[in-house]
Amino acid sequence: MGRSEELFERAKRVIPGGVNSPVRAFGSVGLTPRFISRADRQKIYDADGRAYTDYVGSWGPMILGHNHPVVREAVERAVKDGLSFGAATEHEVEMAELVCGAVPSVELVRMVNSGTEAVMSAVRAARGFTDRDKLVKFAGCYHGHSDAMLVKAGSGVMTAGVPDSAGVPASCARDTLTAAYNDLESVELLFAENPGRIAAVIVEPVAANMGVVEPAGGFLKGLRRLCDENGAALIFDEVITGFRLAFGGAQERYGVEADLVTYGKIIGAGMPVGAYGGRREIMERVAPVGSVYQAGTLSGNPVAMAAGLAQLRYLREHPEVYAHIESLGRRLRAGLREAAPGCAVTGAGSLCCLFFTPGPVVDYTTAKAADTARFARYFRFLLDRGIYTAPSQFEALFLSDAHTEGDVDALAACIADFFRTEKN
Ligand code: PMP
Repeated sequence: MGRSEELFERAKRVIPGGVNSPVRAFGSVGLTPRFISRADRQKIYDADGRAYTDYVGSWGPMILGHNHPVVREAVERAVKDGLSFGAATEHEVEMAELVCGAVPSVELVRMVNSGTEAVMSAVRAARGFTDRDKLVKFAGCYHGHSDAMLVKAGSGVMTAGVPDSAGVPASCARDTLTAAYNDLESVELLFAENPGRIAAVIVEPVAANMGVVEPAGGFLKGLRRLCDENGAALIFDEVITGFRLAFGGAQERYGVEADLVTYGKIIGAGMPVGAYGGRREIMERVAPVGSVYQAGTLSGNPVAMAAGLAQLRYLREHPEVYAHIESLGRRLRAGLREAAPGCAVTGAGSLCCLFFTPGPVVDYTTAKAADTARFARYFRFLLDRGIYTAPSQFEALFLSDAHTEGDVDALAACIADFFRTEKN
C-alpha cells in the first residue's frame, strides 16, 4: 500500500469520506485520492514522492504557478508581524484599493474568507437593497454551499449526481429559481412569472463548474438588460473568472458590468479569501453603515491579504502573464480538438475542458450528456502518466503562467494516446 492509500485509510476514520471537500475525493473515478505533500511551479508531488504536472492549480488560485517566490516572500514577511489581530490593517486598504481600481463596477468591496461566504453575503446585500426575496440562478452553475445556492448546482453536486442537498430547508430553496444557462427566454419567463419579486440574477459569466461553458454572444448583455428592466441586481460570480480571464475579469473581457461581483481564492493566491463588492449604493447597505449584517473574525487576515496583494500586483505589473496563458489555452484547445475526435472542446482564456460528448455543450443538459465512465478511464490514464487533472468531467483544466508550450503539447499527446489505446 502506498503512503496516499495509508493516509486515506486513516483519514476515513476521522474525516467524512476522508476528505475536507468532496471534490477532492476520487470516488467517482474509482480511485483513492492522492495526498499532496508539496508543489512548485506547475508540478505537485504526492506523499509517495511521485511528481505530476498539475492542471488543477488548487482549483484556480495558483495562476502564477505554485510556490511563486513573490507570493511566498510576501507571506514570510507578513507572518513575522503576527497572524491575526481582528482589527483593521493597512493591507486591507491596499487590497480594497487594488480591487476597486481593477474593476470599474466595484466601488466598495468587503473581504470574507471563501467564495461561499462571498456569494452568501452578496445575495443578502441584493435582497436587502431591493427588498425582494427571490433569486435566479442557472442550472449547473456552482456558487458555494450556502443553502440558497444548492439548487441545481454544478461542481461536486453534479459529479455525485445529487440533484439537491439534504439539509436545505424547502423554505430556503423555494426562493431560488433556476433558469437554463445561455437561454435568455428562460430568464424572461421567470421575471414574467414573478413580477417585482426577483432580487437578483446570479451567474458564472463563464460557467466553470459544469465543465467549462462559454456564454453565447449576447447572453451576458441580455442578462444586464433583463435585470435593468426588472429592477433586479445582476451578480457576477467571478470566483473562477476574476483576475483570470483578464485583470478586470469577465466584466472586462465581455464588456458587461454587474451590480455586484463575488471573488474567491484567486485574490488570496492560495490563502483562504473571498470578497464581494459592487455599486456604492448597494454596498452602503452593508453593516456597519447599513442594515445588511455580515461580519468575520478572520476577514481581511493580514497574511492572506499579503499573499493576495503580492499576486494581484504581480498580475497588474505583468500583463504578459495574460498573453502567455491565453496563448497556452488556445494551443491546448487546438491540440485537444486534434487528439480527441468526437469530443467537444470548450474553454475561454486559460480555462479549458474536454467533454466526452460530441456537443455542442451550451448548458447543464448538454454537459450532463457526457460519458462519465469514459471520463473516469481517461482520468486514470492521465494520472498514471503523471498528469493531475480534476477527478470530474464537470470541472475545468486550469492553466498557469508556470505551464509551458511543452506541457500543453505533452498533455494533448497523452490524450491522443488515450484515444488510440481505447480504439485497440
Ligand atoms: N463560486 C464559484 C464560481 C466557484 O467555482 C466556487 C468554488 N469553486 C465557489 C463559488 C465557492 O468557493 P469556496 O469553495 O471558496 O467556498
